[in-house]
Order: sequence, then C-alpha cells, then structure tokens
Amino acid sequence: ETELEEVLDAYRHIGTLKSKIPYGNGHINNTFLLTYEIPDGQEKRIILQEMNREVFKQPKELMENIIGVTSYLRGKIIENGGDPERETLNVVPADDGENYYVDSRGEYWRAYLFIEDATCYEQVETKEDFYQSALAFGNFQHLLAGYPAETLHETIPQFHDTRKRFNDFLRAVDEDKLGRVVHVRDEIDFVMKREGDADVFGDMLKRKELPLRVTHNDTKLNNIMIDNATRKGICVIDLDTVMPGLAMNDFGDSIRFGANTAAEDETDLSKVSSNLELFEVYVEGFLKGCQGSLTQTEIRLLPMGAKVMTYECGIRFLTDYLEGDHYFRIHRENHNLDRARTQFKLIEDMEAKWGEMEAIVRKAANK
Ligand code: ADP
Ligand code: MG
Ligand code: MG
Repeated sequence: ETELEEVLDAYRHIGTLKSKIPYGNGHINNTFLLTYEIPDGQEKRIILQEMNREVFKQPKELMENIIGVTSYLRGKIIENGGDPERETLNVVPADDGENYYVDSRGEYWRAYLFIEDATCYEQVETKEDFYQSALAFGNFQHLLAGYPAETLHETIPQFHDTRKRFNDFLRAVDEDKLGRVVHVRDEIDFVMKREGDADVFGDMLKRKELPLRVTHNDTKLNNIMIDNATRKGICVIDLDTVMPGLAMNDFGDSIRFGANTAAEDETDLSKVSSNLELFEVYVEGFLKGCQGSLTQTEIRLLPMGAKVMTYECGIRFLTDYLEGDHYFRIHRENHNLDRARTQFKLIEDMEAKWGEMEAIVRKAANK
C-alpha cells in the first residue's frame, strides 16, 4: 500500500487520481487500474503494473523491448489508418520522463494506456475465440515483419533453444539425483528416439533458411483485447516475453495447448489428442493474420512447429520431474511426469495425423 502511494506520486502528471483498484487475472505481474480526472474534466484510465522480478531478471532490457516494439507498431497502425491508442499497448512515462519507475524497494513499475471498450477473455470457449486469437497473433507477426528482431534482448535466455533443453534433459538423466530414472525408462526412450527434432529449427536458422522474427511467447487468449462492439481481436498485450524467435514458435505453442482435447495434466491419456478441427481453425486465422508475411518454408514448417514446441515442453516437464520439481509448481505427486506424458501423447497423435496436418496447411496457404 505504501509502495503504491510512492509509485502513484511518480505519475502525477497524468491528472488527479480518482480511484485505484487491483485489476485482471494475470499471474505474472501485479496489475492495477487507475482512474484519473484530466484537465478537460474527462476521465483517463491507466493500467499500472509492478513487474515480476522473479521471472524477469532484466527489467530494463525488457522495457527496451516493449518500447521498441510498441513504437514500431504505433507507426504501422497509423500508416494503416488504425487507432494507435487501442491497437497497441502505449507506455505512459513517469513524471521524470522515464518509461518505468523504480520504487524504494528496487521494484520496477510501468504504466500503459487502458484499452477502452474491449474485453480480455480468460478461456477459449468457441472456435471463433480460437480463430480471433490466431488472427491477432498472425497480425502481430505481420505488423512486425519488418522489425529488426535481432536487436531485441532475450529476456529469458535460450527460451526456445530445443537443443539446449535436450542437453539439459540428458544431464538430468545422467545425474538422476532423485533415483527417478527407473520409473521413466519409456518416456526417456520416447525423447531419445526423436532427438533429431531438437535440431531441425536450430540447424535451419544457422544455415539462414529461416528468418529471425519478433515472437510473443505467451500466445494465450487472455493476452488479447477483444473489441466489445465487433468481437474482433484488436490488440495483443502482455509483451514481457517478446523476444527474437521463429514464427513456428508462437504458432506451435498455441496448437500445443489450444488444440489439446484434454487438460495439460490429464492422467487419462485416452482423453488427450490434438484436435484437427481446431488445428485447421488456427492455421486459417494465423495465415490470414500474417497476410503473406511468412516465407513458403515457414508455412511448410507449421506442423513441425506444433510438434517441436510440444516436444520441447514435454522434455522440460520430464527434466523437472527428474530434477525434483523445482521449476514447474506441482500440486500432487508425479504432477510433472503426468504433464510430460500428455505432451508425449500429443506428439504421438500428431505423428499419426501428420499427412492431414500438412494437407490442412497447404489448403489454407492456397486460399
Ligand atoms: P500478466 O503477465 O500478469 O498476465 P498482463 O499484462 O497480461 O499481465 O495483464 C494482466 C491483465 O490486465 C490482462 O489480462 C488484462 O485483463 C489487463 N490489462 C493489461 N494491460 C491492459 C491494457 N493496456 N488495457 C486494458 N487491460 C489491460
Ligand atoms: Mg497476461
Ligand atoms: Mg505475462
């Protein structure tokens, strides 16, 4: 409470503060909605966030990424005749002109314009929601296609370096700190058999066969603002994990969790599969949003993106299980093993449907 007062004091130029309330269902940042009265007598709403320093160790670099990407988006949106106050996040500087404020405890805060007349939905409930999400994240790729991705900081180093994840897994098997290896021989075999998948993208990137892109890395529905009047996705928010990456990363991760017919920790594996109808919906929305910005190679690799992201995630769950569950929070015994198993089941299912997945992508690309 006293920290909040201190921070509010650093943003007095906005206007006269009328109210402040904790806001939203975010799990990472500490978010507040502030309402100000501004000189013309009107109201102005602001989102104020305390950044999560546990997850993001380099807040200055993170804010540099956000400023870089949002200023670029602003330019593109104005060029396209859009509304730059609603179609991108806008950082509101503090009174001293800085884009963030560091409080006396050393915690980092930042303010954004509140996106009016739009709603953030927590869960995909209909195919249309999933489609809107695909469209919005595809459009994000499209708008940022000309951005120099290599200038962005890697706020979580080697986030989607699948080879590194694989090597970390090998080390965990080798060390077998908790003696759990004997329980997961089949799962370890499963990962080993697909070792080649860990290098597909990394090798192509090295050979310059893939462009480095601006990726979002948290492509959930609740990171999109949906316009109340049109029900269309208008703005991608939550840019903390924006990093250089591959178009197939954002696409693939969305399929990994969004097309799964069961929960990520379902223990009845017969319920777990990758829904082709949802896959098709997402492919269509994503390609439409990308508006021709993806190369033929990237488009062809979309199914591979789904597989590699699922493989990487499964490897991380299994590694955490072997190392004693210190990264992903567990709520029951073997929770991370259960999670790893759903990912491996999804991979088997994708492998069985591979021809169909490729056909769906070809069909959507030719529309
Ligand atoms: P987290 O990383 O904790 O998910 P978010 O940046 O996604 O943080 O913010 C949490 C929630 O706050 C969002 O899901 C959304 O409901 C709301 N929110 C964030 N930024 C804005 C904004 N500029 N305008 C309106 N609502 C916002
Ligand atoms: Mg969020
Ligand atoms: Mg977030």
